[in-house]
Amino acid sequence: MPVRAVPTPTPRRAAALLLAACLAGQPALAEPEVVNLYTARHYQTDERLYSDFTKATGIAINRIEGKEDEIIERIRQEGANSPADVLLTVDMGRLWRAEQAGILAPLKSAVLEVRLPAHLRDPAGRWFGFSTRARVIAYARDRVKPDQVATYDDLAAPALKGKVCVRSGSHVYNLSLLASMIAADGEEKAEAWARGVVANFARPPQGGDTDQMKAIAAGQCDVGLVNTYYYVRALNSPAAADKAMVANLAVAMPGQQGRGTHVNVSGAGLVKTAPHRAAAVRFLEYLAGDAAQIHFADGNNEWPAVAGLRTANPGLASLGTFKTDTIDLALIGKHQARAQAIFDKVGWK
Ligand code: FE
Repeated sequence: MPVRAVPTPTPRRAAALLLAACLAGQPALAEPEVVNLYTARHYQTDERLYSDFTKATGIAINRIEGKEDEIIERIRQEGANSPADVLLTVDMGRLWRAEQAGILAPLKSAVLEVRLPAHLRDPAGRWFGFSTRARVIAYARDRVKPDQVATYDDLAAPALKGKVCVRSGSHVYNLSLLASMIAADGEEKAEAWARGVVANFARPPQGGDTDQMKAIAAGQCDVGLVNTYYYVRALNSPAAADKAMVANLAVAMPGQQGRGTHVNVSGAGLVKTAPHRAAAVRFLEYLAGDAAQIHFADGNNEWPAVAGLRTANPGLASLGTFKTDTIDLALIGKHQARAQAIFDKVGWK
């Protein structure tokens, strides 16, 4: 598993420091405080987020990086001896997996409860959403009219037959979207929708969200499901290939006349066996502060979870404000397994 650890002082080095202090006749230095952060995030802008925290508190951030599902599994396998203090990952479906694996501790924090909207955090405090992303419909401006992609249901309408590109039905982003439909409309309607989208496929599910945008740009299909940050990343990119990809692309925020566009989170939780619990709680609370919120969200072209904050991000700003589905995110976790069963049943591979 590709995991990169940023080194902390080793016991031998700590002992050497202690010895040096004793020899100099000075009081021994206290063990430096640290938070072991298990994270799937690897954005340049996050460096500033961590260094600002260390500057303000003297607590070092020791990052252990890996892929989302692998990090959860690693903490589970490490068990009581895990050095993990905080798990940081993306999508409610994965926070749910971590919760179900029993690796997260319920945390009561007045700071987090006041700062973060109730629908973006676990009532029991096992996970907290720190930024949001929306799952939207990307489409070719010259071939699709906005009123053809006003709702998620439109993706299943006969008008888009042979024109829809999507990634796998076992990917957490699609599972979470379908789970939100199960929660809002029931299994029967959710299954009918999934079946309708499968009937409209331009090609078998493949690639990631950016690959769907590439396929639209290349004329292989006209519409696709994408998370907003992939689109915004391309919009903000100076690269010629990205400029060419988005030139004829637009995104629609589905469900504006209904319950709103599906929104998910990047989030974190306190690990049950955290060896540095107090420092870990300080870090989680720091992430909900104004400056940290802006850095955290902007690092991946997302929106801060704290209301009323604006990032200086032209691509994100171009999406404007829109109505979001404020469904209890815990329901999205709860319906993951049903969502997978439906995708399997209708052949959304
Ligand atoms: Fe992603």
